[in-house]
Amino acid sequence: MATVKIDKTKCKGCSSCVDACPVGMFEINGNKAKIAKDMSECLGCHACESTCPEGAITVED
Ligand code: SF4
Ligand code: SF4
Repeated sequence: MATVKIDKTKCKGCSSCVDACPVGMFEINGNKAKIAKDMSECLGCHACESTCPEGAITVED
């Protein structure tokens, strides 16, 4: 199972990860991305990591 980490010091709350994730893993709370679902639903596709303009998301397989 993949592990997704968000560096909140880098996140600017742009919502790109919310739009990119095919399983809706992210939500924006207080202008920062947070994980909204159980990590077991993550497909490990790395779309969130690729789309984040701030380099705030890391996906570990
Ligand atoms: S790796 Fe893919 S499925 Fe997992 S949180 Fe990122 S975009 Fe969503
Ligand atoms: S794409 Fe990156 S900067 Fe934008 S909300 Fe998601 S984690 Fe934050």
